[in-house]
Amino acid sequence: MTKNDDCLFCKIIDGKIPSTKVYEDEKMLVFKDIEPKAKVHLLAIAKDHFKLLSEMDGQQAELVKYMLTKIPQIAKENGCENGYRIVINQGADAGQTVFHLHLHILGGEQLGW
Ligand code: AMP
Ligand code: ZN
Repeated sequence: MTKNDDCLFCKIIDGKIPSTKVYEDEKMLVFKDIEPKAKVHLLAIAKDHFKLLSEMDGQQAELVKYMLTKIPQIAKENGCENGYRIVINQGADAGQTVFHLHLHILGGEQLGW
């Protein structure tokens, strides 16, 4: 698994920066967003550092697929029984601030668009 010493989310994976983890296995980590944009706001990251959706290779696409198969159960167990939204910000215009691919999981309430 690739790591980047300057990456905030790699530091969270390594435990160098604290986070509120809700799920972890050998491939992925899910933790609470520090500045929640909904009642429930989780971030799912792969334990493999890559920056952008547009840059992922086939193996990384498999990791994203793996995360998407795990998220329904994790969301359900964390207050998103009635649904949730998954967001991936790609690049500056989308407001991406952390360049380690992550999936936002938003829910716990009726979301506006
Ligand atoms: P993005 O704007 O898509 O790059 O999302 C980055 C997200 O990371 C934002 O929603 C931030 O609130 C969140 N964030 C930044 N630092 C931390 C941290 N130390 N722990 C948890 N979430 C963080
Ligand atoms: Zn990283």
